[in-house]
Amino acid sequence: MAARPVNVLITGANRGLGLEMVKQILEAQRPVKNLFACCRDPDGPRAEALRTLAKKHPNISINRLDATDLSSIKECSQKVGTLVGSEGLNLLINNAGLLSKSTLEETTPEDMQNSFNTNLLGPLNIIKEFLPHLRVGAKASKTPGMSTRKAAVISISSILGSMQVVKESYSYFPAVSYRISKAGLNMLTLCAAEELKKDEILFALLHPGWVRTDMGGEEGEIDPPESVQGMLRVMASLTEKQNGAFLDYKGQPIPW
Ligand code: NDP
Repeated sequence: MAARPVNVLITGANRGLGLEMVKQILEAQRPVKNLFACCRDPDGPRAEALRTLAKKHPNISINRLDATDLSSIKECSQKVGTLVGSEGLNLLINNAGLLSKSTLEETTPEDMQNSFNTNLLGPLNIIKEFLPHLRVGAKASKTPGMSTRKAAVISISSILGSMQVVKESYSYFPAVSYRISKAGLNMLTLCAAEELKKDEILFALLHPGWVRTDMGGEEGEIDPPESVQGMLRVMASLTEKQNGAFLDYKGQPIPW
């Protein structure tokens, strides 16, 4: 039987890992009906590559979504709801993120607030606002269990949010506000996984590896195509057994 086309939403889809996800999801064999590629400024220069892609692929819709702006999240959710209707949303990827490399002594309240707003409050508000569409997606799939083709939220976290690797990684990469916000995102995901398992919506966290993007820098270990290929493979393999899991792009568990 042919796979049912799904509806997917990605935040921070205009560059870096988000843009690569859009490209690879379009190339994949698994059919996508609507790909909601969200970014802060759809008409600005930083979304040019995404606009070029959307011209060639009518199933991409570029939507404004600023993770720090609740009204933009609500507006985007409304548009998505109108488009997906009774099919609902199947996969939401919380990818947008902000990195500040400050040490504890350099960290300011503003720095902390910015990291929290983008990396933690953003995903929280996005999950809450898109939940109705995910619930519809879960019901409409009429398949048992959990999967990213049924209803799922995958949040892109980081190994830097792991408490257990602080000792070995802190000296060369402090990033205090980033680490704390990603640790918060991890806890948010575990809470969501517990609270929403009754709705059969899967929640999981992925660490993309150290990737050569604007954020990862040139000294990164892998390029976006390798990271995204791995993450999409992992996403496709997830079932209810991995609800609340924290895995890297190769599918290996990351210590909490
Ligand atoms: P980039 O810096 O290359 O891209 C970040 C993306 O997030 C951009 O599209 C940016 O949009 C968007 N973004 C930032 N703030 C907001 C906001 N308030 N609202 C909406 N979009 C926003 O980063 P990567 O692609 O490397 O990172 C993607 C994810 O992967 C992040 O969550 C990051 O923490 C995580 N990660 C990355 C690693 C790496 O090595 N690269 C390692 C571990 C985790 P704009 O163009 O408007 O700024």
